[in-house]
This record gives sequence, C-alpha cells and structure tokens, in this order.
Amino acid sequence: MSLVLCERDFAVTRFDDFRQMIWVVIQGLREAFRDEQSAEDEVATHLTRLNQVVSSDSIDEMRAEVVAAVVLINRALEERKDRQRAQLEELGAQLNRMRHELLRAQRELALDPMTRLYNRASFDELLAKTIELSVFSGQSSCLLMVDIDFFKEINDTYGHVVGDAAVLHVAQRLQKTFPRKTDFVARYGGDEFAVVLQDTEARDGEMLGKRLLSDLKADVLKAENGETLKLSLSVGVSPLFCHDGTRDWVSRSDQALYQAKRAGRGCVWLAQQES
Ligand code: GH3
Ligand code: MG
Repeated sequence: MSLVLCERDFAVTRFDDFRQMIWVVIQGLREAFRDEQSAEDEVATHLTRLNQVVSSDSIDEMRAEVVAAVVLINRALEERKDRQRAQLEELGAQLNRMRHELLRAQRELALDPMTRLYNRASFDELLAKTIELSVFSGQSSCLLMVDIDFFKEINDTYGHVVGDAAVLHVAQRLQKTFPRKTDFVARYGGDEFAVVLQDTEARDGEMLGKRLLSDLKADVLKAENGETLKLSLSVGVSPLFCHDGTRDWVSRSDQALYQAKRAGRGCVWLAQQES
C-alpha cells in the first residue's frame, strides 16, 4: 500500500517537475524568438504543442515534445549565432571601409593635388609643431624657402602645360634631395616650396640647399617640342630662433630667399645667425 502511495507520489512529483520544465522551455522559446520573424511559425507550432502536452498524462509524449523543442531551440540559436556573426562581420567590414575612406580623405586634405607634396595648411601645422618640439628638446631646426627662377618666362615661352611639368619636376627633385623621414617638403604656393629640416643646423641646411641646386642642374626637363629646359632655383635658409613664432621663422626665411634673388638667383642665402 505504502509502496503504491510512494509510486503515486513519485509520479506526481515527476509530472510536476516535467510541467515546470516545459514552462521553462516555453519561456525560453518566447525569449529566444521574440525578434525572430523567420522562426515564428515553427516556434508557434511548438509552443502550441507544448501547451497541450502540459495537460497530458503521458510522460513519453511530454518527453518527446520537450526533446523536439530543445532540438528546435538549439538549432535556431545556432542559426541565430551564425546570422549575428555574419551581421557583426559585415558591420566590422563596413566600419573598416569607413576608416580607410576617412584616412584617404584626411591624406588628400593634407596634400597638394598637383605635386602630391604637403600643402600649405599641412606646412603651417608642421611648423607650429616643430617650434613646440624644439622648445622642449632644444634641437636645432631650419627652414628652406625655395622658389623657381624666372618661372613666368617659362610659362610665357613654353606655355602653362610645360610650366606645370616644371613645378612637378622641382617637386620630385625636392623629394629626392630630402628623403629623411623627418624632412618635410611642402608646396608653399605657386612656384614656391618650403622644406623643414628637423635636428639640422642652419649651416647643414645651407649645404643641403646647395646640393639641391647641383642635383637640379644634373636633371633635364624636356618640353613637348623636345627642347631641353634649364631650371634654376633660389633658396633662402633660416635657423629657428629661440623665441620664434611661425611668422617670424617664415618671414626670416623669405627675407633670405629675397636676398638670394637679389644676389642673382640660382643660389642659396643663409639668414644671419641669432646674436
Ligand atoms: P622670380 O625669379 O623672381 O621668382 O620670377 P618668377 O617669374 O618666377 O616670378 P614669380 O615667382 O612671382 O612667378 C610665379 C608665377 O608662377 C606666377 C604664376 O602665374 C605662375 N604659377 C603659379 N603656380 C603655377 C602652376 O601651378 N603652374 C603654372 N604653369 N604656373 C604657375
Ligand atoms: Mg619664381
């Protein structure tokens, strides 16, 4: 008798446990598929069957339904994981593309479109940074202002296409003569260029300016009609003085360039040293 009671008690407890488990599964399914339109129908069918099976007296039926539901949940969760992974990967790829586009745009903004040298805005920025750096490090820096001689004549004689080629030619020459990572070559505007040399004494800057002129002499630029052009440059060099702002430094270098022009062009003029 007591055995029968025990068995019945046991059976009731198991039924209650199963019912409890099924409710958990139902909740899990609702939770897992709240936003999943595609799995809705399949889940709805299982939910209905589970709801029905709760009131059933057959443990086998219950078990079969629960197993089917668990299989469904696992499969759907796997699919969802794959979908989410793919979505995240696509999102990551999109972000990466955006990052590259932004970097490219940023680089373009920093460059002169014709020569691909740094433009005036980048030069102003770099100059200010160089001054800041030298205040802390005490390192010498110098600035070279470089201008093509008689450029108007080149334009007038050969036309603007050859004039453009001359600007490009000088730009490439500058890049070859100043190849260090810390050498900064910019197109200042028109036929004028600027070179910032960090950790360089003015005398060395002057020597490098002279090398630029001799390198250019060795180069040839051919006009469209096959004629060979002789290009000449004037260079003004100035060291960075202790209390210089960007304007002081540029204006002293420009003065030196002006002196080089007055001295007959095709030469390097070194600004006076700080007294
Ligand atoms: P100087 O020896 O004193 O420098 O005389 P210059 O003839 O070179 O005179 P300046 O430097 O004042 O002339 C610059 C000229 O360069 C004026 C402008 O028409 C021309 N120019 C500026 N930018 C360009 C360009 O990108 N291409 C061409 N073809 N010409 C340009
Ligand atoms: Mg000029």
